[in-house]
Amino acid sequence: MTRIAGDWLDRPATQAVCRMLEDAGHRALFVGGCVRDALVGRAVGDIDIATDARPEVVTALAGAAGLRAVPTGIDHGTVTVVSDGVPHEVTTFRRDVETDGRRAVVAFADTVEEDARRRDFTMNALYADARGAVSDPLGSGLRDLAARRVRFIEDPEVRIREDYLRILRFFRFHAWYGDPDAGMDADALAAIAALSGGIETLSAERIGHEIKRLLGAPDPAPSVAAMRATGVLMQVLPGADDRALAPLVHLEAEAAVAPDAMRRLAALGGESVDDRLRLSRAEAKRLDHIARAVDDGAGPEVLGYRHGVEAARDAVLILAASLGQPPAPDALDLTIRGAQRTLPVRAEDLIPEYEGAALGAKLKEIEARWIASGFALTRSELLNGA
Ligand code: ATP
Ligand code: MG
Repeated sequence: MTRIAGDWLDRPATQAVCRMLEDAGHRALFVGGCVRDALVGRAVGDIDIATDARPEVVTALAGAAGLRAVPTGIDHGTVTVVSDGVPHEVTTFRRDVETDGRRAVVAFADTVEEDARRRDFTMNALYADARGAVSDPLGSGLRDLAARRVRFIEDPEVRIREDYLRILRFFRFHAWYGDPDAGMDADALAAIAALSGGIETLSAERIGHEIKRLLGAPDPAPSVAAMRATGVLMQVLPGADDRALAPLVHLEAEAAVAPDAMRRLAALGGESVDDRLRLSRAEAKRLDHIARAVDDGAGPEVLGYRHGVEAARDAVLILAASLGQPPAPDALDLTIRGAQRTLPVRAEDLIPEYEGAALGAKLKEIEARWIASGFALTRSELLNGA
């Protein structure tokens, strides 16, 4: 029998949630990401627990056990049980009964098999009890996870019609868990190509969430290439071009720069990206900042000076990726050096000779001369107009 282990599983706070269900004669099964990630040895994030107890029972049991129950998704059966500050999403076994292509309408179910069948991919339909004993109710999840194969549960076309977000989840999970050398499931890609138009029914928020997580993967390039080939990229990011993405991922690795969704997004380009992906203000600002550095046209040191070390580094990598050649060996160091520079002339040096708008213009002119000199002109040379 397959078992999982981990500090998160042994944690008394988490065991307390399982115990409150089990002591009342209910099942408590970890499911989804926590089981999958524990099996492949990755850090476990959110904890999802599936149970046959109905939401109102979960809420009552939590109350009796002195745990806080928050009805975070009560209409689809989810109660968040907070134990020692740790949230546990406890969801009643469900089955899909009817769909509108965006969100499955669900009914509660009595068996874990039914609950498993309504999930998206076989590797996401794995369960484990409070002792870590893993079960694979559909019988192919463990095998597919070991083979790093992202496979829809049952017919991809039917499953996609139920919820078009599964198209984007397919690419996201492939980027994080798929075998990069094995190619993607051909039936899934054919279904996706046939149904890519359905993506337009999804909210910008859900699309953005998936795309950002996809682009934060170590290497999203094969997934994005498949998105292009199936017409999905054009749907989610019209005008995007993924030609620079694979080279960018390669250059990032060479420079030991961590993956970053906004940098990858900047390399893809596209129209109205902020709105289409409902980016946060901070994300939109960062994306715009990188784009301005890319369009600046200056060398790395000036980029560092003008845009700061991060945006300059991102721009250097993106520009090199689009040219298909590595940046100059000292380019990244130069961005750092540029970012550390400060104009040796200050406004006070020009007052009272200049003031108001004229002062601003004079400072700009001095700065332009300084930059044009390769930051070589000294303070007195700049002040004396040399
Ligand atoms: P992570 O939390 O790392 O994104 P996860 O697998 O836990 O991975 P969630 O989005 O938290 O993903 O969803 C939890 C589980 O719910 C999934 O593992 C899957 O079984 C199921 N699920 C989530 N979204 C869908 C969907 N759109 N269609 C079908 N099943 C889904
Ligand atoms: Mg999760």
